Amino acid sequence: MRGLVFKESGKVAVEDVSEPTIEDEKDAIVRVTTAPICGSDLHLYHGRVPGLTEGTVIGHELVGIVEEVGTAVTKIKPGDRVIGSFLVPCGECWWCTRQEYQNCDNGNFRALGYGIFSGDLQGAQAEKVRMPNADLTLLAIEDDLSDEQAVFAGDILTTGYYAAELANISKGDTVAVIGCGPVGLFTLQYAKLHEPGQLIALDSVEERLLLAEKIGATPVDIGKRNPVTMLAEMTDGRGADIAIDCVGHEKAFRNAYEMLRSGGHLVVVGVYVELEYPFPLGEAWRKNIQISFSGVTPVPRYWEKALDEVRAGRVDPTIIISHTLSLEEGPKGYELFDTKQATKVMLKP
Ligand SMILES: [Zn+2]
Ligand SMILES: [Zn+2]
Repeated sequence: MRGLVFKESGKVAVEDVSEPTIEDEKDAIVRVTTAPICGSDLHLYHGRVPGLTEGTVIGHELVGIVEEVGTAVTKIKPGDRVIGSFLVPCGECWWCTRQEYQNCDNGNFRALGYGIFSGDLQGAQAEKVRMPNADLTLLAIEDDLSDEQAVFAGDILTTGYYAAELANISKGDTVAVIGCGPVGLFTLQYAKLHEPGQLIALDSVEERLLLAEKIGATPVDIGKRNPVTMLAEMTDGRGADIAIDCVGHEKAFRNAYEMLRSGGHLVVVGVYVELEYPFPLGEAWRKNIQISFSGVTPVPRYWEKALDEVRAGRVDPTIIISHTLSLEEGPKGYELFDTKQATKVMLKP
């Protein structure tokens, strides 16, 4: 079968790869119909993920049809149309039984197509993929949702739902979302459902701000305006009740912190890998700031709820899609995405 594999930093290729087979009684084999390129795939593309060896199939978002299941799989059956979770938790440890899948201690951060330090699993940008722990990592869906509406529930759409949930928004709150990439745009859509008084979207890329505005948020171009001053102006000098950092960069964290009112809530969804960060501990204590770190998204806990809002027409995941390409055109898709000529590329194996 064909699969998109990592070659070297900045290079992927579509090659003949070996077909996946059932290796464990909880596995399922899925024939992939849609596999988008995720923002985090760019870290893999640039060789920034240690343990990703040449020839590994990448990709961790998928919709497909189940072809075969292991003997211990009871919920999912051949012929089911399914979404796959990027995160592959064990489902049995203390954390998993509490649905805190992000804290699973049996291989924390086991994910599709992320190399040997993340479970050594082959990815989804291929004709077929092996899904371990299929009853937990696959969700059967009906035909009322298109691949495009459903696929992001395995990753970034559910992250948006989770971010809004974690923020604990009360009706009337001023909510600022920093970063309007796909996760930020989905966070805005779910945050809106909690009826904030003001929903403010901060970014410096014009197209992203236009999409944020379409969702119903007030766009603020942080390339042109000081976001902290802006937020103060919009809240009688107080600052935001809630700031959600969807970027994962020190500057975004600092901005999010500084635009909060005393007693405000900082929610950190963007991915941080820094070991240390200078932080005004005393000031944050005096200001009574609450901080919530999301960790990776516990996808199977929230994906059905995230999709309910899509079915109800209140959230539209398809707004971020700019390109649909065949799997063979995958390398071109990476190039377009990497050079920001594409906001979201869907691959069709
Ligand atoms: Zn992803
Ligand atoms: Zn677990």
